[in-house]
Amino acid sequence: MTENMTEIKMTENMTEIKNIANIDSDLDYQVVVIGAGLSGMYQIKRLADLGIRATVLESNADLGGTWYNNRYPGARFDSESYSYGYSFSQEVLDEWHWTEKFSPQSQTLSYLNFVADKFELRRHMQFGCQVNSMVFDEDTDTWTISLEDGRELTTRFVITALGTLSTPSLPKFEGMESFKGASFHASNWPHETLDLTGKRVAVIGAGATAIQLIPEVAKAAEQLTVFQRRPNWAAPLNNAPISESEMAEIRERYDEIFDTCARTYAGQP
Ligand SMILES: Cc1cc2nc3c(=O)[nH]c(=O)nc-3n(C[C@H](O)[C@H](O)[C@H](O)COP(=O)(O)OP(=O)(O)OC[C@H]3O[C@@H](n4cnc5c(N)ncnc54)[C@H](O)[C@@H]3O)c2cc1C
Repeated sequence: MTENMTEIKMTENMTEIKNIANIDSDLDYQVVVIGAGLSGMYQIKRLADLGIRATVLESNADLGGTWYNNRYPGARFDSESYSYGYSFSQEVLDEWHWTEKFSPQSQTLSYLNFVADKFELRRHMQFGCQVNSMVFDEDTDTWTISLEDGRELTTRFVITALGTLSTPSLPKFEGMESFKGASFHASNWPHETLDLTGKRVAVIGAGATAIQLIPEVAKAAEQLTVFQRRPNWAAPLNNAPISESEMAEIRERYDEIFDTCARTYAGQP
């Protein structure tokens, strides 16, 4: 294993790649990444650049993670768009235009698709692949990964890019099962447009998601009730469009912005 790691490190100079993909040829992959959100996409980009035989296993039908799942009305960044994008590619920084200070979910998902298409990341990804278990064999230094579809894959290394917010936690309210109306967790909002005109809607919770969701639901619903256990502190978002000239200024400042992000708590400018 140490030998393999040394060899992988050597490839930082791309001219030194000598059949690295053939290492561990008895295994399905050298590296398996679980999750095709922002983190998994970056991991597979780096692995592909190094010539490592790797794949991403993603339970969703497509990439994007958080931004694939969370489609509730009002879903958008609450950190500034320009600080959220990848910093590894000058081309992406030059080409992508964030059109709002706090990007809506649809644009963020478009951004991730733009990056994936640009670097052809989908060819290294398998969708609809729910990982159910991983077992490590200490004698052979091998992981065996079991998928929901019954397949088993072997690999030397696993990178978990599962996200901290990718599994919704459903409340356990008595009688929930017998509720006859439509009900869902915000992160499982239906992908097709849901017309709330004339509906009576209840939102349970008043955190960051609810603060985005409530004003949008209120525009359409006949009646909206918010169940709030504790009041939350919230500040106006002050969202606004980003013009071409503003975006050009932001591009000029990217080095400074990412430098600030690297030195601040939670990576925010
Ligand atoms: C509504 C919302 C708004 C947010 N806004 C911001 C913001 O403004 N700024 C900010 O910095 N962060 C924000 N975040 C945090 C956000 O989650 C991260 O910024 C980032 O998108 C996380 O990326 P990730 O790749 O680590 O995880 P995720 O995007 O969660 O991706 C993880 C992926 O792993 C997959 N997966 C999980 N388990 C398995 C399994 N067993 N088998 C196969 N696949 C699996 C999931 O399906 C998912 O696609 C927000 C989160 C939410 C939910």
